[in-house]
Amino acid sequence: MKRCFFDLSFSELSELLKEYGEPDFRAKQIWQLVYKNLNLSPETFPAVPKELRQKLKEDFEFAPISAIKKVVSQDKRTEKYLFQLADGKKIEAVLMYYRERITICISTQVGCAMNCAFCATGQMGFTRNLSAGEIIGQVLFFAAELKLTEKKLSNIVVMGMGEPFHNFENVMKAIDTINHAEGFQFGERRITVSTVGIVPMIEKFTKAKRQINLAISLHAPSNKIRDQILPINKKYPLEKLLETCQIYVDKTHRRLTFEYALISGLNDSVEDAMRLSKLLRGMLCHVNLIPLNETKKFERKGSTMERANDFKLILDKAGIPCSIRLKRGVDIGAGCGQLVTQT
Ligand code: SAH
Repeated sequence: MKRCFFDLSFSELSELLKEYGEPDFRAKQIWQLVYKNLNLSPETFPAVPKELRQKLKEDFEFAPISAIKKVVSQDKRTEKYLFQLADGKKIEAVLMYYRERITICISTQVGCAMNCAFCATGQMGFTRNLSAGEIIGQVLFFAAELKLTEKKLSNIVVMGMGEPFHNFENVMKAIDTINHAEGFQFGERRITVSTVGIVPMIEKFTKAKRQINLAISLHAPSNKIRDQILPINKKYPLEKLLETCQIYVDKTHRRLTFEYALISGLNDSVEDAMRLSKLLRGMLCHVNLIPLNETKKFERKGSTMERANDFKLILDKAGIPCSIRLKRGVDIGAGCGQLVTQT
């Protein structure tokens, strides 16, 4: 199988071209053709010698993922794509149009090993990590699509299929490439990575001092409730998780986001809201309340909007910044936790 071009970092590309006997400027030239011009056909690379164009085409894959299906929500503002990978495995990713921004939600694994009770991806089990190239491939696909109508991507959320911190190296390598100053130049502040709460990886991320936004899937104000829905909580319980989050905030001075799926009768009572307020008091954070989206293997329902508003009011009173996340693409199974593919 050919190597995926997007798996090469800029320095790996420079190294490789040096081995090919190419002049120093060549790496930057090719990197810009790919990541600035979004030209993914090496045979057409302008001002690149024919033999090199040939060699790049022979040695490298420039299309590690291919879109095989697209569904559009009724309101036309959410599009879900099914992609096939080189080994036939499949993933999904979502494009969302807002009034002032365009956001994509991308995947990092085929399936997921975290097994969160209410998440469709978790319910399908884990198959494998995506390579950096396959992660970048999703971003470039959407960027190229948008370019056709002269639109530009404004935000990337790494909240699709998989647990990004269970595939840490590839996710960071992918972000390095899309952030690279000579190429795609996508600012880290416009990227959000969401984790179920793998403590050692949050620590590692903290040390890396990146500008990437971090979101934590909290979903419960006590171990008793969190244990029931997020198996990871047995390994990294709430108090350990929040202590790690506080260290993250102290070290980076960056505002954390906590995701909280409101599940009717499980974690949405007045008492739950009060306990949550107490847990988060004083922390530089924002709580994103997401009324649960229904999935096949989880019988509980999402909270009503009325309940969600009441819950929010309690957090508001306690001075915890919070918002209710707009439901997007639920009619096409593109909402949070609804991404799933047949394996
Ligand atoms: N593995 C990462 C990213 C996954 S999805 C993580 O756990 O954070 C992004 C968010 O959607 C997470 O907060 C996840 O818990 C949430 N989610 C999963 N299933 C959901 C559902 N059925 N309804 C609402 N949110 C859900």
